[in-house]
Amino acid sequence: MRASDLLTPTPQGLYCPLADVFIDPVRPVARALITHGHSDHARSGHGAVLATEETLGVMAVRYGPDFAGATEVARLHEPIAINGVTFMFAPAGHVLGSAQIAVEKDGMRIVVSGDYKRARDPTCEAFEPIPCDVFITEATFGLPVFRHPALEGEIAKLLSSVELFPDRTHIIGAYALGKAQRMAALLRAAGYERPIFIHGALEKLMEFYQRHGVDLGEIRLASVKDKKDLRGEIVLCPPSAIQDLWSRRFADPVTAFASGWMRVRARARQRGVELPLVVSDHVDWDDLCATIKEVGAGEIWVTHGQEEAIVHWCGTQGIAARPLRLVGYGDEGEAEPDAAPTEAGAS
Ligand SMILES: [Zn+2]
Ligand SMILES: [Zn+2]
Repeated sequence: MRASDLLTPTPQGLYCPLADVFIDPVRPVARALITHGHSDHARSGHGAVLATEETLGVMAVRYGPDFAGATEVARLHEPIAINGVTFMFAPAGHVLGSAQIAVEKDGMRIVVSGDYKRARDPTCEAFEPIPCDVFITEATFGLPVFRHPALEGEIAKLLSSVELFPDRTHIIGAYALGKAQRMAALLRAAGYERPIFIHGALEKLMEFYQRHGVDLGEIRLASVKDKKDLRGEIVLCPPSAIQDLWSRRFADPVTAFASGWMRVRARARQRGVELPLVVSDHVDWDDLCATIKEVGAGEIWVTHGQEEAIVHWCGTQGIAARPLRLVGYGDEGEAEPDAAPTEAGAS
């Protein structure tokens, strides 16, 4: 069994011809296996979807209950046979419900990691390295310049700013799925006990996480009648909202953005971010290299992102690597459907 006979890149996404299924297809297909709920991986309109219960739940929250013709729950670590090919879902540590998918036949195992990270995240199960012949990875932050700093330091930076400016509201841009909930959970872990306020566009997914047992403490909608209302408080919102009219209702806001991209000063300036917080849901360069060594794959396929550097690095390690250049995948959910500013949603 050659790897390319088991899984092959197509314009719709990664395809397994033997089982006739796609993984994270970017266009509607008859049967899709989906790694996680970010909109570039989980799209509506497929005939049938196999995914973890949480991922199916996220899709229902975003697209409505009829997002696919049929759905089936994939339980973690339980092999599922389709036409003689075995598929197994395992935690990816990216967002709630996120999974890698191991595809196996006749002793050949390919692991599709989807998006993943190794850093601590109290809101989802940690990434599990699965030994494999071919490891398929993203390379969103696949450059040596991307070394994510310790989380504790970034959260401490935010909390000291809150202490320093008690008359200002701290508005933190965070992706609606994963990042917003992780920021809330990290603040709680750091001992922050005040209510955390949210933009209306974050409400449904915040509730979804809480229904699934993720403790985020007291979450309140950011309702402002008077500019003085949320002085000294922390407000989470979609990244697009930190620059729009919505943010001007707050008293002298400090604008922050929680993203791996905040490692790049120019990006922070472009977005008018006063307090950049480097908090990423993707592996950085060191974790990417360490993960490739850990899974022991003889071959690496890179789906998207900064592929040249990691392909080169693999070469120096004697590991075969090739870029797949899959089209349609963004970084950290830049195209989140519910990240659009909704002025009415946050009143
Ligand atoms: Zn993702
Ligand atoms: Zn992605």
